[in-house]
Amino acid sequence: MKIGVIKEIEFGERRVALIPDVASRLVKSGLEILIESHAGESSFFANSAYAEVGANIIDDKTALINESDILLKVGAPREEEVSMFKSGQIIIGFLNPLGRPELIRRLAHQGVTAMGMEMIPRSSRAQSMDALSSQASIAGYKAVLIAAAALPKYLPMLTTAAGTIPPAKVVVLGAGVAGLQAIATARRLGAQVEAYDIRPAVREEVQSLGAKFIDVTLEEDTTAAGGYAKEISEAAKQHAQTVLAKHIKDADIVITTAQVPGRKAPVMVTDSMIAQMKRGSIIVDMAGEQGGNCEGTIAGKDVICHGATIIAPINLPASMPIHASQKYAKNLLNLLNHLIKKGELHLDFTDDIISSTCITHAGEILNQRVKDALSQLAVSA
Ligand code: NAD
Repeated sequence: MKIGVIKEIEFGERRVALIPDVASRLVKSGLEILIESHAGESSFFANSAYAEVGANIIDDKTALINESDILLKVGAPREEEVSMFKSGQIIIGFLNPLGRPELIRRLAHQGVTAMGMEMIPRSSRAQSMDALSSQASIAGYKAVLIAAAALPKYLPMLTTAAGTIPPAKVVVLGAGVAGLQAIATARRLGAQVEAYDIRPAVREEVQSLGAKFIDVTLEEDTTAAGGYAKEISEAAKQHAQTVLAKHIKDADIVITTAQVPGRKAPVMVTDSMIAQMKRGSIIVDMAGEQGGNCEGTIAGKDVICHGATIIAPINLPASMPIHASQKYAKNLLNLLNHLIKKGELHLDFTDDIISSTCITHAGEILNQRVKDALSQLAVSA
């Protein structure tokens, strides 16, 4: 069986789907690995490193795609790449199925079996394949470094001959995978950290990292299937904002990570809250690409608002391409080991990992939420 890796061509994408160490393991298990020439360049993995472990370096992308049984990618393919895919081929990557349902329809028409890494179930059994988590953890870490670098202050408490400096106050909104890593990173840098999540179940995790959990008691169920957050009512939003406003006012750094899958991110930090913040404060809005958790956020831009700066980085994992690619490639290796037994592909649709991850197969769209998103598009067209 041949596994192909094409070079990512989206602007700013520096990750690669396979790193040489993982390619080596796949070669040892009897698979043939084809790497598009310079696919690993932006993540500092040279052609020679892949060649040394027995991968074949291919210059011609069309030939590589043609020969591969399974294609591995990081991000969704471009239109011109999709037209090169052949029927029966498997493509695995972050395909953004709910954000780009038309792409999924295209892949189905092309006869491709598309597997979305964002659809891997968030279960213990699938944990080693959970690329959303492996990448979110990197993003949470990097968000704090960005905030610390932009803050015109120290983060830790310092006792010096020139006086004592109190620790910076960091508020993290949303304590999922990214938020928890942001809390841990801010604590390692010596900041005083408070965090809030709509799901009260995360309180203990927040506290175990040495942060204070901000108590906003909501009188409604806030947890949806799979442990994800639900959209909350207007009244509950108002109440949460009143409580949070007091904490945000005192913060030097606010990191926002709140998302609701398939929907626009909830606005948690309003313009009037920002107006109350200290001048020079920093907000890193990690939900910028989903519309932002903060009023005034512009994805990919730094916006100065009432003397505070809102930073909304795009694709943070790509800014640490070595470890992001390493973790992603490991997630893919574990998925491939699940799919391929003794060199043969086993697409067992009774297995929940495979049935959740597979979005298209044999010309059909399998995922109901993608079908709903397409019907919605047809209605609004
Ligand atoms: P996410 O990126 O979807 O959202 C980030 C956080 O924002 C979440 O904790 C969410 O509750 C919170 N949030 C959403 N709306 C909010 C609002 N209005 N106010 C405050 N907070 C809000 O989350 P994620 O990190 O992908 O995690 C999603 C779920 O998956 C969690 O339950 C997590 O524990 C679970 N998970 C399970 C596993 C596993 O079992 N292997 C692995 C990773 C994540």
